[in-house]
Amino acid sequence: MPDSTLRIGLVLPDVMGTYGDGGNALILRQRLRMRGYKAEIVEITLNDPVPETLDAYTLGGAEDSAQRLATRHLSRYPGLQRAAERGAPVLAICAAIQVLGNWYETSNGERVAGVSMLDVTTAPQATRSIGEVVTAPQTGGLTQPLSGFENHRGGTTLGADARGLARVTHGVGNGVGDGLEGVVQGSVIGTYMHGPALARNPELADLLLKQALGVDELASLDLPEVEQLRRERLRV
Ligand code: GLN
Repeated sequence: MPDSTLRIGLVLPDVMGTYGDGGNALILRQRLRMRGYKAEIVEITLNDPVPETLDAYTLGGAEDSAQRLATRHLSRYPGLQRAAERGAPVLAICAAIQVLGNWYETSNGERVAGVSMLDVTTAPQATRSIGEVVTAPQTGGLTQPLSGFENHRGGTTLGADARGLARVTHGVGNGVGDGLEGVVQGSVIGTYMHGPALARNPELADLLLKQALGVDELASLDLPEVEQLRRERLRV
C-alpha cells in the first residue's frame, strides 16, 4: 500500500458539474479511504493551470457557454492531455466528452474545436435525450450493467481510435443510432451518465482506481446501500 496520498483532480467544477457530477471525485476518494489508502481531491478551477501529475481526473457536464470556457482553459493548460498520455485515468461526463473530442457543435450550430483527447465529434440532434439510461458494458473489466441519468442534445459519433463504453439497453446513449453509450480511448472513459455515475456504478469507479493504483485487484467493499440504489435504478 503506498504511503503517499492519492490525488484526484476535480476538473473545473466551477463551470462543469451538472446533476451532482462532482460526486464522482467524492466516490473515488471514499472508495480509496475505505480500503486504507490516503486520498484527497484537488479542485482545479478556471483560476488554476491544470496539473499533469495527479493520479486520476474527473470532469462533469455543462451547458454550452460553460462548456466553451472549459474548452478554452483545457487547451491553454494541457495538463490533462499530458496526464492521459502517461496513462492516468480520466472520467469525462456528458459535455466533457464533447470538450475532449475533436470538435462539437453548439445548439446554435457553431462548431468549436475540442482538445482532441478523444476521437469523437458531436453535433446537436433533432430532439434532446432526457431520462434514465441502462447499458451493457463492452469494456474489459466491466461485467455489471451500468445506469445513469442522461440529458443532452448533442449526439456523439466515434472515430476509428475510440470504442463505445457500452451497448444501450434502455435510453438513448450517444444518440447517433449506433446503439452505443460512452467512449473509451486509452485511459480516458467518457459517458453521458450523470447520477453521479460512480455512485450508481461502483465497478466503473473501481476500474478507474485500479488504473490509478496500477493494480489488477482491489479488496471488495460490502455496501448494501449501493446495491439497493442499483436495484432501484436498474428497474427502469
Ligand atoms: N450541452 C451539451 C448537450 O446538450 C451537454 C449537456 C450536459 O452536459 N448535460 O449536449
